[in-house]
Amino acid sequence: MRVPLIAGNWKMNTTVSEAVKLVNELRQGLDEIDNVDKVLCPPFISLVAVGELIKGSSIGLGAQNLYFEEKGAYTGEISPLMLAELCEFVIIGHSERRQYFNETDEFINKKVQAALKAGLKPILCIGERLEQNEAGLTAEVVTKQLRLALVGIDHLSEMIIAYEPVWAIGTGKAATGEQANQTIGLIRHNVSQLYDKKTAQDVRILYGGSVTADNATEFMQQPEIDGALVGGASLKADQFLSIVRQTTEIKG
Ligand code: PEP
Repeated sequence: MRVPLIAGNWKMNTTVSEAVKLVNELRQGLDEIDNVDKVLCPPFISLVAVGELIKGSSIGLGAQNLYFEEKGAYTGEISPLMLAELCEFVIIGHSERRQYFNETDEFINKKVQAALKAGLKPILCIGERLEQNEAGLTAEVVTKQLRLALVGIDHLSEMIIAYEPVWAIGTGKAATGEQANQTIGLIRHNVSQLYDKKTAQDVRILYGGSVTADNATEFMQQPEIDGALVGGASLKADQFLSIVRQTTEIKG
């Protein structure tokens, strides 16, 4: 049985004081929900403050990015070792980083390797762009992204995968539950080929892309979907709490 996981990706939103306010709105409600792993991914600058506020609760903490070197002359970057003192999870390969910061599959693979080495749990994002989807290339694109991100990784026990079709992120145009389920099934099949059946059965694969309180049930009812990576709706406490509650009702 895979424990469902809902992660909130706050992206480049919230000042430290806004982050504190949001956590104060979320903390008690989230902590009370069982049988779902709950993870908050605020901006780097709020990791310490959010970490203090959720200490002793059932809420996990994640970063949104990292650089793959451990330390050194990389002005402005944050290393896996720095994060490992503060949080448990790290989002890697988000489509916004692929698109705006030109992150390649090879670069993402280095980050995955570095995160694992530091004891962090990567939430690896993969997903096709609109034109790739329309050209019928979804399977090919996600298969390639998955294989290249996992080069040199010999087990997936600490990994979470998020299928995030780029055309569904921040657009309000979510995939259907059925579409997401089908592609996640394909990703799981690929994991089975790259590793083995047990690994494929155990690895958690999330859906991400315009998940809200209104459509969460549709996704959580799908057997292949183990939770969600939530962007916009994770900034609204009532929405995020509702998504987590729906998840435990269906999968918990
Ligand atoms: C995301 O940031 O990973 C995401 C899925 O965003 P949104 O929910 O806003 O589409």
